[in-house]
Amino acid sequence: MIWKVNNIQQDFKGRSQEVDFGAELYIRNNSVSIDVEITPLFCSHCMNQLDGMFVIEGTRYGHVGEVFCKCGAKINCVASDNLVQWIDSSTYINNQEYGIKRHFDFKESYRLNDTSWGLLNSIGFDIYKEYSNQKINLSKLLFDLKLKLNIEHIKNHTNTKKGLGINKLPAIITDWVSLLEMIEKKEITPYNSGS
Ligand SMILES: [Zn+2]
Repeated sequence: MIWKVNNIQQDFKGRSQEVDFGAELYIRNNSVSIDVEITPLFCSHCMNQLDGMFVIEGTRYGHVGEVFCKCGAKINCVASDNLVQWIDSSTYINNQEYGIKRHFDFKESYRLNDTSWGLLNSIGFDIYKEYSNQKINLSKLLFDLKLKLNIEHIKNHTNTKKGLGINKLPAIITDWVSLLEMIEKKEITPYNSGS
């Protein structure tokens, strides 16, 4: 099932707002698996990002569902089964596929990859030690990082390249990507776990 976040419809945990959704992270000894909860979508017919963000709630053998763009096109979505790590969207007009199918790889587009865990490590935050064999939500990781790094506000770096015509990411993902950029720009004091 896929549905547009509208502050009314709730998922099975009672969540209804964009800021409620991010990604679950499964931390093992030396790898992190991701299960993404929210995505932007792009219409290959009018070549625009659809308004709002979309909750991915369960897949059936990869099929997630479809939503409509305001131009009238239907966007059909398929995601990786079990853990949502990517989503493919195809645009249909009058039941005819239109334009190219879009592949959105969350590991890269949301920066939930080894490069990012390495970046955290470079400022003294070892995700594998902090959450050994745990499942955490990205919002929890952000909360802990802000606390430990003493960050009151995450600067929203709006010049981030998102690719594939997507110019707006979900709220939690925007915070996450912006935090990584703050680290890259050395705007954050390294975290000293000993103090
Ligand atoms: Zn459209």
